[in-house]
Amino acid sequence: MAPRTHWLFGDQLGPHFLDPRHDGPDRDAPVVMIEARSVLRRRRFHRAKAHLVLSAMRHRAAELGDRVRYVRAETYTQGLAEVPGRGRDRLTVCHPTSRAALALVTSLERVQVLPAKGFLVPHADFARWAEGHAGGLRMEGFYRWVRTQHDLLMDAGEPAGGRWNLDHDNREPPPRGAAALDVARPWSPEEDEIDAEVRRDLDRWESDGDVSFVGRDGPRRFPVTRREALAALRHFTGHRLRDFGRYEDAMLAADPVMSHSLLSSSLNLGLLDPAECVERAESAWRAGDAPLNSVEGFVRQIAGWREYVWQLYWHFGEEYRGRNALGHREPLPGWFLDLDADAVTANCLSTVLAQVRDTGWTHHIPRLMVLGSRALQDGWDPAAVTDWFHRCFVDGYDWVMLPNVVGMSQYADGGMMTTKPYTSGGAYIHRMSDLCGPCAYRPTDRVGERACPYSTGYWAFLHRHRAELAGNHRMARAVQGLDRLKDLPELLKQADARGGQAP
Ligand code: FAD
Ligand code: SF4
Repeated sequence: MAPRTHWLFGDQLGPHFLDPRHDGPDRDAPVVMIEARSVLRRRRFHRAKAHLVLSAMRHRAAELGDRVRYVRAETYTQGLAEVPGRGRDRLTVCHPTSRAALALVTSLERVQVLPAKGFLVPHADFARWAEGHAGGLRMEGFYRWVRTQHDLLMDAGEPAGGRWNLDHDNREPPPRGAAALDVARPWSPEEDEIDAEVRRDLDRWESDGDVSFVGRDGPRRFPVTRREALAALRHFTGHRLRDFGRYEDAMLAADPVMSHSLLSSSLNLGLLDPAECVERAESAWRAGDAPLNSVEGFVRQIAGWREYVWQLYWHFGEEYRGRNALGHREPLPGWFLDLDADAVTANCLSTVLAQVRDTGWTHHIPRLMVLGSRALQDGWDPAAVTDWFHRCFVDGYDWVMLPNVVGMSQYADGGMMTTKPYTSGGAYIHRMSDLCGPCAYRPTDRVGERACPYSTGYWAFLHRHRAELAGNHRMARAVQGLDRLKDLPELLKQADARGGQAP
């Protein structure tokens, strides 16, 4: 029987998505890829993200050569209509990564949806694990289960080195006085003719008024092919993994990447399989090339957090998107929507917003403790915050955004994902970065001209949600701290006066 045509989405670009084993597509299946312009028209994406995704899709099509039919169309449905034999033959497609795409493929006739690829844990296995933890799902328990199931960093059934969690060793502030970490620079790509074509197309569509973007489309920084992604992975595990753990939470103004891997966009485009990333990291430890705290930290991010977030996206259901446990309704201010870093005085926020504007990426702590924390303290609508992160980050997709933003960053799910809201005063940012020194504000001041907006905002947030947070054992002490603040009325007045203005 002739193989059925297989439909590849733009985040299914690695060879594992065409591997016929493990319920994959038919052997030597012809392939269809659809570049749907409506996706770009619907939202104002970061231009570097649009560039990355289109470049990766077109590179994959060039690699597949005659095997692929690459359709440029207005919508997916219109694109499919151009597939030869579509009215007659069945198509296969791997389980897409968003609810909207899943609804589309399941609504179409003669399309068979194959199991998801690109993750370590099948949905059915997660469902079984979750059933046994109906009292409360927590990442740590899930992560230990994944390590055991996949024999990752395990020795004779026990965690390698005797401990599951080495987070304690992974919270160092940046080295004193250093402007950058003393570590090899990250892998970086060279652009080619396909990138140039993508730039020309984006310029044309933009000048025709067809689409509109935010951010700058500077030299491409992230891989678009399997070969590039493997080179980036090898470079990271060979030269940069060593210091990953120690400075995982630290920030330096002049060194946005620190020792992070920059692999999220490659994983999320499907260019890398998570199994090969964690296996390589484990091999580096076993060969004595990287310490356990770094390797465990990295494995925890991929086999723990990334898998957990993927599963929760499906597990929590569609209504999770609309959760707003804290009743936050403020719109996102214009300077934030436009990534206008120059409008912001607060050095931490201005620096991080500029990183997003220029690259479409910052590491985890700036996302959580600078951008997300600002939104949480100022009571911005969590759905709008989710949309902003989705559009502005090169690695942003619906599945990864919802749990990370609605749950982890905005606590809009009321604690389904995390045990407490993640926000802090300026003292945390001061301890973990070099950002406060040159700032016009002082992290220790919560009222007055030089009051740090994070310190003022932190107490104002606790005050606003005192009733909800007092019963949370991880927040109770912080909430009690409000009673010791003699300047609380003045602080609240100051927080109110700022409103949505850029801090
Ligand atoms: P590293 O620090 O080197 O970590 C290694 C890998 O672990 C990452 O490449 C990523 O694949 C995975 N990972 C770590 N934490 C998470 C997590 N919480 N969720 C999913 N994967 C994780 N990650 C995305 O991939 N896409 C997003 O759109 C995204 N949005 C985020 C929004 C907020 C508000 C927050 C707090 C986190 C978000 N993250 C997102 C998670 C994390 O910040 C990024 O994965 C990471 O910063 C990417 O940089 P890196 O590849 O250098 O990661
Ligand atoms: Fe940010 Fe406050 Fe530090 Fe300024 S003082 S950099 S606003 S935390």
